Amino acid sequence: MIIRAMKRKSLRLGVTEGGDVEVKVPLRCPKNELIAFLNKHTDWLELRLEQLQSRQQVQREQMLYLGQVFRFQQSSQKSKQPVLLGETCYYPQSWDQDNLLAKIELWQRVQSKELFQQLIDRWWPHFSQGALISRPVLRVKKMRSRWGSLSSKGYINLNLKLLELKPEIIEMVVVHELCHSHYFDHSKNFYRLMAEKLPHYKELEAQLKQIEKGSAY
Ligand SMILES: [Zn+2]
Repeated sequence: MIIRAMKRKSLRLGVTEGGDVEVKVPLRCPKNELIAFLNKHTDWLELRLEQLQSRQQVQREQMLYLGQVFRFQQSSQKSKQPVLLGETCYYPQSWDQDNLLAKIELWQRVQSKELFQQLIDRWWPHFSQGALISRPVLRVKKMRSRWGSLSSKGYINLNLKLLELKPEIIEMVVVHELCHSHYFDHSKNFYRLMAEKLPHYKELEAQLKQIEKGSAY
C-alpha cells in the first residue's frame, strides 16, 4: 500500500501486522525515486516479512495466557469452550483450524471482560470516596501503545493483551488506572496513592518493563 502524505519529507517503509507492506511517500515523490528506495530496502523487507511469518506461526500454535504458555490442541471431548489443562489449551472440536485465532480472540475477550471487571469490582471500593468520577465503565480494546487508560468521562479502557500477563501485573495496571480517578496526571500525589494501595507496585512495574522490552510491545 502506498500512502501519499502531504507533510512527509522522506520515504518510510513498514510492514503491518496483517503482512501488508506500507510505504509512506511525500506528495511529490518521483516514481523512480520510489523504485530506487524499494530496491535498496528489499533485504530489510524480506527479513521483516520472515519475522512476521514466524511470529504468526507461533501464534497459531500457542498462546500466552495469564503469564503461562498453552499449546493449542483440538479437544477429543465435546466441549463448547476451550479448556486449559496443564500446558495445553484444548479447543472445541467444532472449531476450524483456519479461524482458530479469531475464535480464540473472541473467547479471550469474554475472559478478559470477566477478569478485568472482577478486579475493578474488588478495587473500586478503595477508590470511590473522593474520586473525580463515578464507578468507571470497563471497555476492553486492542491497543497498540498502552495497557490502559481512564477517561474523565468515566471509562476505564484496558488492553486485551493484558490477558497475556500474570494476574499480579494485570492487577497493578487496574490499580494504576483507578488511581487516575483521583489524579489524572502522574504527579507525586498519584504515585503516593499508588504506593498506598499497592506497596509493591514498583517491582511489578519493573517486571512489565522487562516484558515490554522482550516483545514488540
Ligand atoms: Zn497512568
